[in-house]
Amino acid sequence: MGPDPVGKVATVTVIAIDGPAGSGKSTVARGVASRLGLAYLDTGAMYRSVAFAALRHAIDPADDDRVGAVARAIRLDMETDGSVHVDGFDATIEIRGPEVTRAVSVVAANPAVRAELRERQRRWVEQSGGGVLEGRDIGTVVFPDADLKVYLDARPEVRAARRSREVTDLSYETVAADLARRDALDQGRDDSPLSIPNDAVVVDTSELGIDEIVDRIVELADARQP
Ligand code: C5P
Repeated sequence: MGPDPVGKVATVTVIAIDGPAGSGKSTVARGVASRLGLAYLDTGAMYRSVAFAALRHAIDPADDDRVGAVARAIRLDMETDGSVHVDGFDATIEIRGPEVTRAVSVVAANPAVRAELRERQRRWVEQSGGGVLEGRDIGTVVFPDADLKVYLDARPEVRAARRSREVTDLSYETVAADLARRDALDQGRDDSPLSIPNDAVVVDTSELGIDEIVDRIVELADARQP
């Protein structure tokens, strides 16, 4: 973006919220976006949508070439009410199901998938005039110059307990094991692994309520406004 006629550089506000599963990212990011009047993007839902589309076409999630082609081809509609349409199909429920959850970290380690979704995320910010994005690599790779970077974390047993309250048809042990496996894949991959951005504010959400965390992030965002 170049200077405008009065010489000011046009800017948009980007808030990056990263962290592992069950750290409270989605609820917090949605709350922050609504308080600041910014758009909200759940980038995990985008990776889940690619995994869903691959499974639907009976493509092996580990087949990098074919899954990369799926990522480039799919039409993704992320609605403001949280519903997600993949090629016109309402996949809101399916993308949170156990099959997609098991396949998603393999799909997300595919560099072709990441390159495509990264571009879509950057275009989304341009079109929305900024926003709050939550994911694993937003502050490190997608928007290294974000206005505010937050890294949410919580103790593993707290994260597993939160997820197991959401997924009522699986035992706590299964959910905890799936989560640990996903953490290891997300932190250990070569392309954009989950890590704490250098300049992020780190918040342990184990003992905090959602409102407290949202208040804190909104204060930080307000303090950084020019
Ligand atoms: O946030 P959620 O648990 O829905 O993310 C699902 C998966 O998508 C993560 O486990 C990770 O493998 C992948 N992901 C990613 N980069 C992002 C967001 C999600 O690799 N920015």
